[in-house]
Parts: sequence; structure tokens; C-alpha cells
Amino acid sequence: MKKKLILSLITSATLGFTACDDANRKADSENFNYTVEQFADLQVLRYKVPGFEELNLKQKELIYYLTQAGLEGRDILFDQNGKYNLRIRRLLEAIYTQYPGDKNNTEYKELETYLKRVWFANGIHHHYGMDKFVPGFSAEFLKGAIASVDVDQLPLAEGQSVDEFCAEIFPVIFDRNVMPKRVNQANGEDLVLTSACNYYDGVTQAEAEAFYDAMKNPADATPISFGLNSRLVKKNGVVTEEVYKVGGLYSSAIERVVYWLKKAEAVAENDKQKAVISKLIAYYESGDLKQFDEYAILWVNDLDSRIDFVNGFTESYGDPLGMKASWESLVNFKDMEATKRTETISDNAQWFETNSPVDSQFKKEEVKGVSAKVITAAILAGDLYPATAIGINLPNANWIRANHGSKSVTIGNITDAYNKASHGNGFGDEFIYSDVEKQLIDQYGDQTGDLHTDLHECLGHGSGKLLPGVDPDALKAYGSTIEEARADLFGLYYMGDPKLVELGLLPNNDAYKAEYYNFLMNGLMTQLVRIEPGNNIEESHMRNRQLIARWVFEKGQPNNVVEMVKKDGKTYVVVNDYEQVRQLFGELLADIQRIKSTGDLNAAREIVEAYAVQVDPELHAEVLERYKKLNLSPYKGFVNPVYEAVTDDNGNITDVVVTYDEGYAEQMLRYSRDYSSLPSIN
Ligand code: ZN
Repeated sequence: MKKKLILSLITSATLGFTACDDANRKADSENFNYTVEQFADLQVLRYKVPGFEELNLKQKELIYYLTQAGLEGRDILFDQNGKYNLRIRRLLEAIYTQYPGDKNNTEYKELETYLKRVWFANGIHHHYGMDKFVPGFSAEFLKGAIASVDVDQLPLAEGQSVDEFCAEIFPVIFDRNVMPKRVNQANGEDLVLTSACNYYDGVTQAEAEAFYDAMKNPADATPISFGLNSRLVKKNGVVTEEVYKVGGLYSSAIERVVYWLKKAEAVAENDKQKAVISKLIAYYESGDLKQFDEYAILWVNDLDSRIDFVNGFTESYGDPLGMKASWESLVNFKDMEATKRTETISDNAQWFETNSPVDSQFKKEEVKGVSAKVITAAILAGDLYPATAIGINLPNANWIRANHGSKSVTIGNITDAYNKASHGNGFGDEFIYSDVEKQLIDQYGDQTGDLHTDLHECLGHGSGKLLPGVDPDALKAYGSTIEEARADLFGLYYMGDPKLVELGLLPNNDAYKAEYYNFLMNGLMTQLVRIEPGNNIEESHMRNRQLIARWVFEKGQPNNVVEMVKKDGKTYVVVNDYEQVRQLFGELLADIQRIKSTGDLNAAREIVEAYAVQVDPELHAEVLERYKKLNLSPYKGFVNPVYEAVTDDNGNITDVVVTYDEGYAEQMLRYSRDYSSLPSIN
């Protein structure tokens, strides 16, 4: 299951500050530089951690240990994303730091850019588009560069010569036909064999599905998350799991994570939080997914701690079958003031569930424990670094969500950094139809964007239920897109409800239109800036957004609800009737929830393939052309702050100091040096 929202493009393109910015944040922005650097299709930003200084020493110490535990997992993700990734990263880092030749040489510059992209993607495939990077330097250049650095700095396999190493690695870097996609979602292909991710080795999709189907017992009301923490391999003809745990796969990195977690355990804020950390350690030591569920239940019930964290094998976007989880970590503390907003939403969760346009048999009779808060991120790590989600809703296991609830968070300081960095970047001027929409978005865009994220996370994903006996994985490769559509639609439908004004979440009955316009413009047009010419849409959040926008566009045609208008040769989205858009969101929500609740794979396939995947090549070319002129990056990510523990003569921590001046390459090289305990081949 997929539970996170990745920032939509338009959110980062809103035009200015709004009333919802508190004075504190405004003051920050005046002397804080949010941008770090720009290369390829990426922009690296920096975020602040407001409020850290006000935490007490024990809380700072806890955050410090948890951030260390977070950073120690970085290599795991590189290896999960592809089995050559660590070797290629280490090779390039050796060249980058030791190259004796001219560093202004074009090919060297291209190698540098390639390495920066590999760092950003945690591997050689695009973090979002999934396609393998095409190097701008030649094999000859790389060969020469390799010859110029110390042999003992090269990540050679045991007994391997440099020539043998090159023969093994070069096709992976240079041959477009080798491992072309990290996650392949193309209908009809063997998704396991054609995906370059490292969750399966030597098994076919049919073998993987059969392996896990055989484990599942439909009568089990509390099933473990099968396959979540392992690589599935075929050895001597037998399909078997290599489990990620202490003493198993990735042991040397997991041991480091556990080392820091044990320190964190000793300074936990309270017993509940201590129990969470202890159980996580036990799970890392055993690899037992039952213990993982126990941990998730403890975690979801720890609501009083100021500090919170995610650390582990969590989201399964990187597995074409949606079972195996990539490693990630987020350490955070609650933003007390902003959390009042999300508490209002979660306090009314039952009202929203009861009044949704969904058929009553698919609704939850009783919405349990939707806890929602706005958090301040202290560190992003693993699959949340450098590109990150802006909202998270966990745990993912359906039965835990149903019986114990879920925690939903919006990452306030990250959203804020996006908004600040994109202020006045020209995007809105280029793509928004008229001054009417521009004003609307200028005035309400940031606020409605945040609110949609909150609704998506703390109501959308938590809403609805599966009918008894429906396999949670029934929608297979379409499951993620349907789940995201469900969450987005639930939020969109309610954005236009007068209830939100009544609750004080929106200032008036027009504000929601900013989000409707942004969403439709993004889904119909502007998100295409992230797609290479000739490609279709693969990523599930993007598929979801196009699905919703195209469906509403098409169904509204008879009444001209939404139009695509040409003005001076440029295409614009025009919304003629916002109230009808809302009704259409409601209709689609009802159908998507039905598909989810009944596990209707055919209907899921049909609607996703019809609306979510194909790209209009003419419109695509136009959008790319217009975007190119703005000189913006379609993808953004972050460098982390640096935390330094100040100790006394006995080694006790007396303070933790946070600084914000580390550069991108500098941070990546430091992480590769200080938090890199895995061998190159795992
Ligand atoms: Zn989501």
C-alpha cells in the first residue's frame, strides 16, 4: 500500500506568501538562503529546523541519536535500487575526489553531473521517472579516469582485475538496453524480470507471485506484510527469501542503525516511546515481520511524545509488485501551533467519513484513531533523501490501520522551504490562464495546498474499507495509483465543502477554487514537464493526478465544465464551473472506492490505462517548450542540516548544535565516508 504524497509541481509554483504564514517563518526567510544548487533536471534546496533550539537537552540528544540511526541506512537503499549502484557510486566518488586531470574538461564536468544525479537518485535510475541515466561522458574517458586513480580506491570484486571490473560495469553505465528501468509498470510484461531494482534475483513475476500467494491465508485477519523486508532469490532452483536483519542481508548497516537506536532508547522521552524503540531493535535483530507489526502498533499509539521518527523498510513504491519496502528514515518533532489545524480535521474524521459520496457498504462505520499533526523534519534519510514526501501516513498494513488507526503527518518546514524557494519563479505567469486565477492562487494557493495535503493524508488514506475477504493486493500493479487517487479525491471533494469554512480551515467559499485550478492544471498539463518526450506516465502519484484530471475533463465535456483553451498559440486550462467539478470529484471518488473495496482488478486496469498513462504528444511538446524557457527544475530535493554533538570531558553530550552551511557534494561525500558500512556487493 502506498501512503504518501509527493509534492505536486504546482504547489511549488505558487506565487507568494499568504496570510497563513506566521510571523516567525517570515522572519526566517529574510536571511536564509533556501537554494543550494541546480543541475540536470534537479534543484537542491535547504530547509530550516525552526524550534530545535527551544527543545531541552534530552530531546536534542534523542534527535541526535535518531538522526545518526537515519543516516546509517543510506547504503541499503542504494543497493535495493540496483545491484551495481554502490560499486558505481564508489567508483565515481573515487574519480571525483582524486582525478588528477583538468576538472574543467567537458567530459569531466559531465561525469560530475552524472555523479550528482546518482547521489540524488540513490542509484543510476531517475528517482521519479525510473529511467536509467544516460551519461554525457564517453567510455574511453571513464576508462582513462579509472586508470588515473589508486587501484585500491576502486570497488573491485574479490580477485577482479580493473579490466574485468570495467567489462562488468561499463554495460550497466553505457548500454541503454541493460537495466533500462528501475521499476517497470508496463502492462503485459514480466514486471520482475524487466525491473532493475534489486528486490528479486533470478525469479520471474509468476514465481514471485506464486511464492507469496502460497503464504497467504485468506482467513487470516491480521496478516503480516509478506515479503516486506527481504530479497527474493532463486538458488539451485529453489525460491527463497534473504531477510534484511542483523546477521542477514545488509547486516553491517543494520547493526549501525541498531547501535544508534540503543542510544536513543536510553534517552527516550517516556516509556511508550522507549517501548517503540525497543521493539524496533528487536525486529531488526530477528527480521520477524510479526514483530514489525507489533512495533507498528506501539508506534501508532505513541501520540504524546514530542519527538517522533520513521526508521526502516517502509514504502513499496520501488517494487514493481508493491510488496518489498525500501529503507527510509525521517526524524521530526511536533509543530505545536500548526498542529491545531490538523487536529481540527482529525477531530471531525467521522463526520467526513459519514458524509462522503461513497456507497455506505464501503464506508467505515467507525473511524478509529486518525491522528494528524504538522511536524518539523530534523533529518531526511534513505528513500526520503534528498527528494522527500511532504506528507506521510503510516503504518501501511490495512488491518493495523483498521484496528489501531494511523498517524498522519504534514512536514511543515519542508513545504515552507518549497514555497519560499519558488516565490516569483515565473511558473504561474506562464501557465495560469488569467489574472483571476492568478489572484486566487496568489491569495490562497499555499494554504489550500497544505490543506489538501492534510486531507489526503489524514482522511483520504484512512477512509473506506475493503469488503470481507478482499485481498489487499488484489489490484496488483494498479493498486498504488488507485490508492493515491482515492486519497486525493477524498481531499478534493471536501476542499469545496462549506464545512471547511465552518471549521475555520478555509477563510471563505472561494478559496478552494485555488486548489481545484492548480490540481486540474497540473494533472492535465504542467506535470508533463517531468516526462521525457515519447514516454508515458509511470509513477503512481502522477498517474493518479492525470487520471482524476482527465476523467473530470472528459465527463464534464457535455456541460463545458473544464476547457482547454488556446490563447496566442498556448494552451491553458479554464474552469467554468467549480461546483460541477466538485460533483465530478465526488462521482469518481465513489467509483474508485468501489474498485478498491471490491478488489476489482479489471476496472482498475481499465480506468488507469484509459486516463492515467498515455500522454498527448503535441501538448507534451508545447508544455516542455514553455517550461524550458523558464529555466526551472522539475524536481527538487534537500540537503540536511548538520548536527554536531558538543561533549564534556567525560563524553557526555552537553548540547547539540545545528548548522546549515554544508554544500551538496560536500554532504554526499561526508555521508559516503562516515555512514557507509555495506560492502559493494551484497
Ligand atoms: Zn498518498
